[in-house]
Amino acid sequence: MKRIAILGSTGSIGRSTLNVIENNPERFQLLTMAAGSNTEAALNDARRWKPKVLSLASEQDAEKVRKQLKDEGLGEIEIAHGQAGTVRVATHPEVDFVVSAIVGVAGLKATYEAVRAGKEVGLANKECLVAAGELITAEARRQNKPLLPIDSEHNAVHQCMRGGRMNEVERVWLTASGGPFLNTPTSDFEKITVEQALNHPTWKMGQRITIDSATLMNKGFEVIEACRLFDMPPERVKVIVHPQSTIHSLVEFNDGSILAQLSVTDMRLPILYALTYPERIESDLRFNVLDLKRLDFAPPDPDKFPCLRLAYEAAAAGGSKTIALNAADEVAVAAFLKREIGFTDISKVVERTMNETPDRHPESIEEVLAIDAQARSLAQEQLPRHVAR
Ligand code: NAD
Ligand code: MG
Repeated sequence: MKRIAILGSTGSIGRSTLNVIENNPERFQLLTMAAGSNTEAALNDARRWKPKVLSLASEQDAEKVRKQLKDEGLGEIEIAHGQAGTVRVATHPEVDFVVSAIVGVAGLKATYEAVRAGKEVGLANKECLVAAGELITAEARRQNKPLLPIDSEHNAVHQCMRGGRMNEVERVWLTASGGPFLNTPTSDFEKITVEQALNHPTWKMGQRITIDSATLMNKGFEVIEACRLFDMPPERVKVIVHPQSTIHSLVEFNDGSILAQLSVTDMRLPILYALTYPERIESDLRFNVLDLKRLDFAPPDPDKFPCLRLAYEAAAAGGSKTIALNAADEVAVAAFLKREIGFTDISKVVERTMNETPDRHPESIEEVLAIDAQARSLAQEQLPRHVAR
């Protein structure tokens, strides 16, 4: 029986993970969970799953949930909150496997502490690898524990890499759906609305990653994620647009062989793979090969999607530049969702913040979080409301 902690239990990946656990009760037990601010969902989960620890983002929400559960006779569930709460969930001594699926840098400390505590970690939260991948992968190597990618492309690469040795890998091809604006002319980008940007063609996901998929920043983050997970320089990690999202990624070996992974577009499959690795177990997540009509591929357009270029630049520099890339994007996407800036402003905020962030190579998570905070305030200064104040 594998005992599981979920960081980000109320999100899209969190729900899919709970579904995988529910479908395999003989293998997996939900032990602890960290939610954000959705107290209704957190309460329902507490009743259904009776975790040992439940963490909420704020102290106020934690208090509310604690009181309600006590009234219902569920007072034995330990309620925690904030960063310390996520760390408690991730490092509980009885936890074997941590699914890291909080969105953004909010999940970084708990993910790092999970690795440091020697837990097996399944990584959906790519932002923590973008901000602190060097530190996290170094710690995982020290612990001699694998970091199992849940992000579908990296999960595909992980699977394909089992077909050869690391030193035989020539390059990695990450596939991108291209997002909702693949065929929109650049001249129309200024007018893109929040609703249009949230309408992803192939995946249903949280808001941040959906907007990042529309700007291709998500793919840029994934390039950095691949460099760090698979210890490869950015020039050997390529992006190719593949609108059907059927091939989840490809690995090219030195003899010219290319291995690809195909499956349904359902995150429960990479989650199941990570949870059962190195085994594979039966599932009903089937892909009908006879439905495979066509597979299209095209290179991404760097002029239309400047975020991808910025991510490659950050990947080459490493350290504070990738921290700034993520922090500024987090701020800019939130501002776009609040309709404070336009779609094309996102890359501008990120570029200026990156340029203004001095080159540094942090040696601890605390240093990473300090650089992240500085980059956030630099990004905030670019927003119109800052000027208006
Ligand atoms: P989501 O917005 O649906 O869920 C995010 C979760 O994080 C929620 O449970 C929320 O409550 C929690 N959270 C947010 N801020 C928090 C805080 N301060 N403290 C504690 N919890 C907090 O997002 P998602 O789509 O599930 O994505 C989660 C992560 O997985 C992201 O990093 C994303 O890039 C990555 N990812 C998602 C998908 C997907 O298909 N959804 C695919 C690949 C990678
Ligand atoms: Mg992905």
